[in-house]
Amino acid sequence: MTTRRTVSFSRNSKNIFFHILTQCNLNCKHCYINPEQHGRKTLSLSTIKSWLKIFPGKNKRANVIFLGGEPTLHPDLAAAIKIAWQVGYGSVTVDTNGYLFHDILDKVTPEEVNYLSFSLDGPSPSINDPIRGEGSFDKCISGLRRAVKKGFHTSLIYTVSRENIAQLSHMPQLLKDLGVERFFIQVIGIRGKSAGNRAKDNDKLQLTHDEWLSIVPAVAEKVAKMGITVTWPKVFLDPEEPFHCAGLVADNYFIFPNGRVYRCPLCEDYPIHGMVIRENQLLSTPKINECDLFGLSIPEGCVMNKIIQPENLSYSDDGCPVYRIACCMLKEEIVP
Ligand code: SF4
Ligand code: SF4
Repeated sequence: MTTRRTVSFSRNSKNIFFHILTQCNLNCKHCYINPEQHGRKTLSLSTIKSWLKIFPGKNKRANVIFLGGEPTLHPDLAAAIKIAWQVGYGSVTVDTNGYLFHDILDKVTPEEVNYLSFSLDGPSPSINDPIRGEGSFDKCISGLRRAVKKGFHTSLIYTVSRENIAQLSHMPQLLKDLGVERFFIQVIGIRGKSAGNRAKDNDKLQLTHDEWLSIVPAVAEKVAKMGITVTWPKVFLDPEEPFHCAGLVADNYFIFPNGRVYRCPLCEDYPIHGMVIRENQLLSTPKINECDLFGLSIPEGCVMNKIIQPENLSYSDDGCPVYRIACCMLKEEIVP
């Protein structure tokens, strides 16, 4: 028996999304990294250590997710993972495109990484590679197989857009065959490069309410029936469902190599970060910043969604929004 539930924002943990560099070997169409806003630095190990130390505390469990760019391109990722445990983190995840540089699987143990999370945007090279790059499907699959063979817990992230939603239904069997334990369905966000492609591609990539709901929950059910935990964003709120902004109630920190710290990932294309790390201290930024937006109440739900990607909104003849958009961090989950 499986149970589907909406996962409300955790008030008992801090989630640190730590971009330790912005460099990447791939050039995915929907990449949200924006070097103009996030910098081009590769953080030194001593800086990573100092910044990691800022967050763990007595009252809340701190979880770190190492990101890039491609985090395995950082020659000191293995050392950073070990430091994270030493300074008090309760879990360590690494998001990777699967190329697994610097022999990372030989430098850390499965006990040191709660999840190695691979990104794949199609069940075959013909769907994945036009989005993520020539040869990236085979590389990712081979990296994932090696990780599973070595005993690492693995998850897989599939970013859904109009370009690959039809093939999502082919993922459950592939996940099962690969031995993946968790599946994250993500929705395309119009940030970074996809925001730059706005005029060209945006309306082609973003999904409507009906497209999303006609495919994603059904695939999620199928994945869960195979014994795999599956998580996907709510995106469209049900009529009676309350709207909450994670920026007001959750402890999420999206950290970039230039020291910017955002509380909301949808704000990352703009210099409106609510916090900054200076001389290894986490400081609030002066007004006006993203935090001033979180308390605004609009009939469309999420304010930032309306500002940056309003193509997923629709209105009735009287001008009222037909659906409210949930916070991008509100998730649905099925645990088998
Ligand atoms: S989405 Fe990830 S793997 Fe793709 S180019 Fe951006 S950082 Fe690299
Ligand atoms: S996505 Fe919207 S609702 Fe969520 S934190 Fe950002 S502004 Fe708030």
